[in-house]
Amino acid sequence: MKAFAYLSHGQAGWIEKESPAPTGFDGVIRPLLVSPCTSDVHNVAIDCLAPHRILGHEGLGEIVAVGDQVRDFQVGEIVVVPPVTPDWRTIPSQLGAHQHCAGLITGQKLSNSEDGLMAEYALIRDLDANAARIPPGVSREAAVMAADMLNTGLYGAQLADVQPGDTVVVMGIGPVGLMAIAGARLRGAGRIIAIGSRPAGMALAQAYGATDLVNYKEGDVERQVYQLTHKQGADCCICAGGGPEALGQAVAMVRWGGTVGNVNYFTTYGDLPINNVRYGFGMGNKTIRGGECPGGRARMEKLLALIQYDRVDPVPLITHRFRGLAQVEDAFRLMAQKPPELVKTIVDLSL
Ligand code: NDP
Ligand code: ZN
Repeated sequence: MKAFAYLSHGQAGWIEKESPAPTGFDGVIRPLLVSPCTSDVHNVAIDCLAPHRILGHEGLGEIVAVGDQVRDFQVGEIVVVPPVTPDWRTIPSQLGAHQHCAGLITGQKLSNSEDGLMAEYALIRDLDANAARIPPGVSREAAVMAADMLNTGLYGAQLADVQPGDTVVVMGIGPVGLMAIAGARLRGAGRIIAIGSRPAGMALAQAYGATDLVNYKEGDVERQVYQLTHKQGADCCICAGGGPEALGQAVAMVRWGGTVGNVNYFTTYGDLPINNVRYGFGMGNKTIRGGECPGGRARMEKLLALIQYDRVDPVPLITHRFRGLAQVEDAFRLMAQKPPELVKTIVDLSL
């Protein structure tokens, strides 16, 4: 089969690979709709994948084959899968840490340690436990945007422990940051201060519930947040963009006892400047929690319920649509370039 994969030395491109065949609990889908993630772009750029690893962990498809242990799904059904499709039979999974089922951040198998969805066929581990049907009233595009973007944005709000009435800062207004804004609103946030610069993101940030917009290119964001909050700082901050320095700023701009929830994936390493004592706040008595979005069927079904019952609509995230497997490359390259009008791309493979 044909597939779009990591090659080597920061390059992605087309490969031929044998089509997967399911055994046991696994299934094989024919991907019908896929969306490249910023993490795909990062993973290629930093050479952290095995050569010829097929990219893509946001998508849905038609089941074309099932292993002999699959009970709940049949060939011909359309299912959506989250990026995190863990091994549910491990001790970390039993301890509630399925994102780390075989060691730190090993739950996201698709496009990391197992082949992803940007291909003619894709193997889905433990289909009964990891795939979800799309409920009535939920479009296929919405289901794909729920898998990673709504999932991770909402998780950022959960990690930041957003409470009713809180003043929340959301660092980054890419698709994840925008869904973090929606997630903060769903959890009852009062004021939501969104930080970013791209015009498409700014407009959507307000639509999803941001009450204030701060442009990090127009001055010190800590100072701007402290001015907006009359020197109190925010109750919590969700980090969904920027480098290590943004995490330091997030820590500095939450009040004493505040919480930072980080879902950002840093491509550069180095010291995290979290000991920032500007404005007399520093990291004392603050909580920093970070992580990989949850996965599995139950999480996916909860995310789909948020859309089915009109709590949130992630489809406006999609600014660029492509058609046919060959255009996966265009969609991927656009996600790497990040022009000002871009939020998220999607590719229809059903033709
Ligand atoms: P984007 O690159 O589309 O958006 C990043 C946002 O951060 C943009 O709004 C950008 O600004 C803003 N930004 C950049 N630099 C700064 C800065 N110094 N201070 C404040 N804001 C800044 O990314 P995505 O929304 O697609 O993803 C966000 C992050 O989440 C990525 O690192 C991604 O890999 C990660 N991720 C993590 C997952 C998880 O499970 N933990 C899952 C999926 C994604 P501008 O408006 O100027 O572009
Ligand atoms: Zn992702």
